[in-house]
Parts: sequence; structure tokens; C-alpha cells
Amino acid sequence: MSDPKALVLIVEDEWQMLRFLRTALSAQDYRVLEASTLKDALVAATTHNPELILLDLGLPDGDGIDLTRQIRQWSHVPIIVISARGREGDKVAALDAGADDYLTKPFGVNELLARMRVAQRHAAMVGTDISSTVLEVRNVRIDQAKREVTVDGREVHLTPIEYRLLVLLAKNAGKVLLHRQILKEVWGPPYVNETHYLRVFMTQLRQKIESDPARPRLLVTEPGVGYRIKDG
Ligand code: CA
Repeated sequence: MSDPKALVLIVEDEWQMLRFLRTALSAQDYRVLEASTLKDALVAATTHNPELILLDLGLPDGDGIDLTRQIRQWSHVPIIVISARGREGDKVAALDAGADDYLTKPFGVNELLARMRVAQRHAAMVGTDISSTVLEVRNVRIDQAKREVTVDGREVHLTPIEYRLLVLLAKNAGKVLLHRQILKEVWGPPYVNETHYLRVFMTQLRQKIESDPARPRLLVTEPGVGYRIKDG
């Protein structure tokens, strides 16, 4: 269910990529604004208040990560980075600066549209009541009031850490969470670098939740970056 009238700002300096994005989005009834420099993008973002931003990192007058940081000072608009830079460090830097998601070029239209829908859904949730006691992601149901987790209707017993890990991922279903974000939320700020804790507990959680823990379909790894619970 895409919002057919959402206004999307595309920040991209390669005309082929720009044309590809414009065509893909227009076909889905998105309204499109375009900018090919950091400067124009900042003006467009402040004057038009787009509902979503697709952002290339390598721009002629600077880096998209800087733009992300600037925009985050006053706006929660979803930002999806689209970049040829596939290195883990670049993804972490972009997400850390406040981007919501990251797509490495080349990518397919369906992948892009799916990520956009996730980002829009999260944006729509900001400011609404998220204390809703039941979280559901595919075959997993979490009743927060009863602190009860079921998979396909069967109750699963989780340790307190496993439970908090699952709730955090489920609240952010579809969205990639960085290792350090998860460690900070679940274990606390002193643990942000203890990536091995996370690996151990994720393995345990997969054994309880996944039908084939060796090939997780729900709790997926974003290599070198973090984890994502897949809701689609
Ligand atoms: Ca570029």
C-alpha cells in the first residue's frame, strides 16, 4: 500500500539513475522533486517538505552524509541512501548520521519500492501511540502485556535479553538496526562495542523463533552493519 500522493525528493547527479528513479516512482503515482547538488537538495528539502528523500552520497558539491546530518537537525523525514559505495563503513556512517535505510546500486525497482514503503510506515508511526501491547511480525506474535511470545500459535520461552532483543527488532520491523543501536537499547550504553554478545544472543533467538535457524528467514543479518527483522 504505497501512499499514492507522497512527495519524494530524489537527490542524484547521474542522469541515468535519476531517469530510472523518476520513471519508477512516477509509475507508482509518487510525486517527484529532483536535485543534483547538495545545495539544491537542502533548498528543496526546506521549501517543499518532501515526505521521503532518496539520497545519493557522491554529489558534485559534497557528501550526502553531511546533508543527512543537516536535515536531521530539524526533520524526521525518512531518508533512504542509494549509493554505489557498498562498503560496510559507508553504510554504518550513513545510518549513524540519521539515514533510515541503505540501498547499494544496482538494485531492482521492487526492492526500492519495498524499502520506501517500510520507511513511510515508520514515519507514519512517529508521534502515534506505539505502546500498543501486541506486536505481530509474520508468524511471530508478542503480547507485551503478558510478556508472551508465540510462533505459529505455540508459546516460546525467551530469556529477558532474548525478549528485549525480539521486541526491539519487531518494533522496527523491516528496518535495519545497527549493532551498536541494538547493544545500547538491549544491554545499555557501556556495551555498544560488544558485538559478540549480540551474535551469541541472536543465535539463541533464531533457534527459538526460526524454523531453520541456520537459514534465517525472519531475523536476517545485514553483514557488518546490523540486523533486520523481515516483515514481508
Ligand atoms: Ca553520484
